[in-house]
Amino acid sequence: MKKRYIEKNMTTPTPKCIPKATQERIARLAEQARQARAEPLTPARETEIKQRIKAELIRQDAVLVAHYYVDGPLQDLAEETGGFVADSLEMARFGRTHPAKTLIVAGVRFMGETAKILSPEKRVLVLDQEAECSLDLGCPAEEFTALCDAHPDRTVVVYANTSAAVKARADWTVTSAIGRDIVAHLASKGEKVLWAPDRYLGGYIQRVTGADMLLWPGSCIVHEEFKAEALQSLLREHPDAAVLVHPESRPEVIALADVVGSTTQMILAARNLSASTFIVATEQGIFHKMKQAAPEKTFLPLPTGGLGGTCMSCATCHWMKLNDLGKLSRVLETGANEIFVDEEIRRKAVVSIQRMLDFAGRRTDKAACPG
Ligand code: SF4
Repeated sequence: MKKRYIEKNMTTPTPKCIPKATQERIARLAEQARQARAEPLTPARETEIKQRIKAELIRQDAVLVAHYYVDGPLQDLAEETGGFVADSLEMARFGRTHPAKTLIVAGVRFMGETAKILSPEKRVLVLDQEAECSLDLGCPAEEFTALCDAHPDRTVVVYANTSAAVKARADWTVTSAIGRDIVAHLASKGEKVLWAPDRYLGGYIQRVTGADMLLWPGSCIVHEEFKAEALQSLLREHPDAAVLVHPESRPEVIALADVVGSTTQMILAARNLSASTFIVATEQGIFHKMKQAAPEKTFLPLPTGGLGGTCMSCATCHWMKLNDLGKLSRVLETGANEIFVDEEIRRKAVVSIQRMLDFAGRRTDKAACPG
């Protein structure tokens, strides 16, 4: 089993690719999620459900935290009801400091786990237990642990898009906003890094920091589909557009970016840069917040699948789109989909997350805070 991750004839075991069976499972689950997406609600039904949800949130002392990639109505409801819209770590940090007894997480499963890791005393509910992430699915804890054990000389740094068990094996858990700074810090101390699971984000950090990094070969099925040819073609039509790229994208797409950053950093760039048109390479749910941040500007999604190609995700994370108002209402009514994390795993995982939060807290540069 472990051998699938080992490159032959190398003295140091090196991850090469995600096993075909795992790739097929990821594609199958993504397709199931695409097909399971609910039909949009009528305006009258949406109003009725929202009223019920608002009453239940108050009655149950619950707060809704949503990711930038979920649909606009959920993002709006989170903010209207005193909740929060952000990336996974900011969601978890908000959940930890908010006094509510119950956290409702609108995102994917690992985000619910991260919230539970940071807030073990709270009840954490997710809207759909089938809301996966290809990075999490592509990095099973057992295989990852075997790789870590084979490289005891390396500091283990994992992206937030991982299971609690993988975080528990890591020295550091990082976000896309602060991963680069943390790896640069480790490299400055002469530490070698074992990075997981996103090979594109890891490769980007490796290029900008020069760190010695061993990369797990995972990828985000949404960002992986952005292609440089499509970006160049769009740039020919809009030569003055600024290009915003999430670092989970391929290196040739990143190379064409004006700004490479996390979701929060991309939204800030959309608001602060002087350009009036932006080409955006990330999941399309982000446009809701970008348009709120800069309503006078034009945002163009970067087409996926290349020129005339086909796309599996089409810039849509179908797992994120499993979150909807109907499920939120049902979860509040039934208490279903509670997240539990084994206490031993949680105690180890929280150490790797807290290390990052402490690092961020020590920095005076606000732009480097996880976002
Ligand atoms: S957009 Fe990619 S990284 Fe984000 S949850 Fe979906 S599959 Fe995972």
